[in-house]
Amino acid sequence: MSAFVGKYAEELIKNANYIATPGKGILAADESTGTIGKRLSSINVENIESNRQALRELLFTSPNALSCLSGVILFEETLYQKTSDGKPFVEILEENNVIPGIKVDKGTVEIAGTNGETTTQGFDSLGARCQQYYKAGARFAKWRAVLKIGPNEPSELAIQQNAQGLARYAIICQENGLVPIVEPEVLTDGPHDIKKCAAVTETVLAAVYKALNDHHVLLEGTLLKPNMVTPGSDSPKVAPEVIAQYTVTALRRTVPPAVPGIVFLSGGQSEEEATQNLDAMNKLEVLKPWTLSFSFGRALQQSTLKTWAGKKANVGKAQEAFLSRCKANSEATLGKYSGGSAGGLASESLFVKGYKY
Ligand code: 13P
Repeated sequence: MSAFVGKYAEELIKNANYIATPGKGILAADESTGTIGKRLSSINVENIESNRQALRELLFTSPNALSCLSGVILFEETLYQKTSDGKPFVEILEENNVIPGIKVDKGTVEIAGTNGETTTQGFDSLGARCQQYYKAGARFAKWRAVLKIGPNEPSELAIQQNAQGLARYAIICQENGLVPIVEPEVLTDGPHDIKKCAAVTETVLAAVYKALNDHHVLLEGTLLKPNMVTPGSDSPKVAPEVIAQYTVTALRRTVPPAVPGIVFLSGGQSEEEATQNLDAMNKLEVLKPWTLSFSFGRALQQSTLKTWAGKKANVGKAQEAFLSRCKANSEATLGKYSGGSAGGLASESLFVKGYKY
């Protein structure tokens, strides 16, 4: 069966291609109210609307940073927020040629009878919500599915449930004009080696692309947001070149060339590690029929958050830190990162066991 070509097909393809422009990537600033609370509490800032607004304003008005970005993923609250001078965030992004995106999933729930495996919620009124978000200016969406590596995990049930969920979400987005970011995240938790992560990532991606095809998803109007292939968190680290080799191999085996862009999540890597790994992939001399870029949350915001610490007086310095990470990652999408943007803060590991976004 061929792909569904609805009234938005041309627009979906145009926006997906734009987001995948080499030299640009995505800022994931879509932390839910609970998740942003954890970030704010790490700098002793209270989780109230005005503080969440202040952090997002700092990011979106950061001088020159938006030129390194093609998209920003927002949480629902942020989609409707404004700067302190009353300008909608969506307008600021649009004026800077950055496409607003929206997190549409509602988190994960455990699949009964499994060893802590999950499926993602958020199908209730998803179509109506997509229409509303489109009206508010969003043109792409995110839905995070999570898989874990264990002695018997991921189970066939978890792989199939999550692949079907991502495919159903993707086609609902496309019916309503939003480019779906398809995110099957294989967590790094565990003592496994990089080969195990590669095998699981390939199996999961193969199932996801089979499901997308079964659901008639127009691949040209989608983006993939995968984990990088790395050793487990309790295993010794390996060089960026090794991660690059395994990751690109897994993607070449499973992701069709019709997909315009692959935008990685950072998954608890330090800011500097995430940038170096992306750079190493783009330096690899093999055929890569898609753009390889970033959709980082933690690895774009950590040093900025620490530098800001919730104080107005630190906004300028925090924005400098943000610009330096944006530039580094922009260079990495071209395989042109030469290092040197790693202050002490950028090298801190951001890994948290059993991380919930
Ligand atoms: P991290 O880059 O912090 O892993 O988050 C990206 C994201 O949006 C996960 O859904």
